[in-house]
Amino acid sequence: MESFDAVIIGAGAAGLFCAGMAGQRGLKVLLLDHATKVAEKIRISGGGRCNFTNRDATPVQFLSDNPHYCRSALARYTPADFITLMQRHGIDFHEKHRGQLFCDRSSEDVITMLLAECDAGGVVRRHGCGVRQVRHGSGGYELDTAQGVVNAPQVVVATGGLPIPQIGATDFGLRLAEQFGHRLVTPRPALVPLTFDASQWAPFVTLSGLALPVRISTGKGRGGGDFLEDLLFTHRGLSGPGVLQISSYWQPGQPIRIDLAPGQDVAALLTQAKLGSRRQLGNELAQLLPTRLADTWLAQQGLPAQRPMPDCRDKDLQTLGQRLQQWSLVPAGTEGWKKAEVMAGGVDTRQLSSQTMESQQQPGLYFIGEVVDVTGWLGGYNFQWAWASAAACARALKAS
Ligand code: FAD
Repeated sequence: MESFDAVIIGAGAAGLFCAGMAGQRGLKVLLLDHATKVAEKIRISGGGRCNFTNRDATPVQFLSDNPHYCRSALARYTPADFITLMQRHGIDFHEKHRGQLFCDRSSEDVITMLLAECDAGGVVRRHGCGVRQVRHGSGGYELDTAQGVVNAPQVVVATGGLPIPQIGATDFGLRLAEQFGHRLVTPRPALVPLTFDASQWAPFVTLSGLALPVRISTGKGRGGGDFLEDLLFTHRGLSGPGVLQISSYWQPGQPIRIDLAPGQDVAALLTQAKLGSRRQLGNELAQLLPTRLADTWLAQQGLPAQRPMPDCRDKDLQTLGQRLQQWSLVPAGTEGWKKAEVMAGGVDTRQLSSQTMESQQQPGLYFIGEVVDVTGWLGGYNFQWAWASAAACARALKAS
């Protein structure tokens, strides 16, 4: 039977990074993936340019049932550390929006870099090699893989989350956690478009494709989020960065609240305009909102767009402004795992060491990356968690 110091299951962002780092520390590492093409999520990430980190990442941008868990790993492997690695490999990148860093050329550059780091550490890589079973006994861990049985005192689970099953996502890591007595925080799709009942959405279907900046929020306090970002109308509901962000906080049955004209006081502006404007209501509202939205909104509220401003009642203008800026609606659901960018929930961190990512139930078993109940906002934070948790683990793994 082949023996290693550590077997890492899952050659995605966290698994590749952990393997390279541990290998370069002198450990004999085996990295397994059931997919023939590794790191598919890196490949498709950031529209093919991989938003590989966020310059401003702090624990604030992460959701978890145990919110302080991510602090230690994030502090010990920072965005600056990953930027240094990228620069060492001569990969050019740029900042797009609010600290989000993207490759200039392609996500492929990040994958090539991670594979080179694995090679530098002498990592044995087996792709197209699933794991059927993991057993623990006096001789450490025994893994039945598609290419024979292997043995190691340490196993790292880096199998990612459930989104996009068509490119290799599985619940293997979650099942393995349960096998070894771990609790799970119920997994749910996050960074995902929200959908509405067809009848509720019918008035807005024609707005499909329209994008605008909004303020969007859900929940209250620690369980809630509040973002100033773009919203996109779709055939089935709402998408765009603002909606993806809020979806990670949204719980079924909860309303979301949207201010369609952030930074403006629509009621006051319309009431003021009534005094001096001969325009029609639709045209006046179109000064504050995209025309298509202004028309649809007035029709939906039963207000004639052609009504001259001087004929509008103050009360109607007040209500119109209020509804536009406090639009409250209850999504029917989300677009699910097929469209989600990440999984919220996962292996409960209250049974893991925040210093090393090792199980407190089962010595020698580690969980890193998205399989763990730590979920970042949109904007490079999820990769930063993959790198940081992988680094914490790689530093803790022991050579025999
Ligand atoms: P993954 O990268 O998903 O890797 C898991 C690996 O485990 C895969 O290779 C998989 O094949 C393997 N695996 C699964 N099951 C098994 C099994 N049973 N046996 C063996 N191997 C197994 N985040 C950002 O920060 N920036 C972005 O720009 C960004 N864009 C994204 C775009 C899309 C469309 C999606 C879906 C996600 C995006 N993300 C982004 C999220 C990011 O890709 C993930 O959070 C990150 O890849 C998680 O890393 P991971 O190593 O934990 O999991």
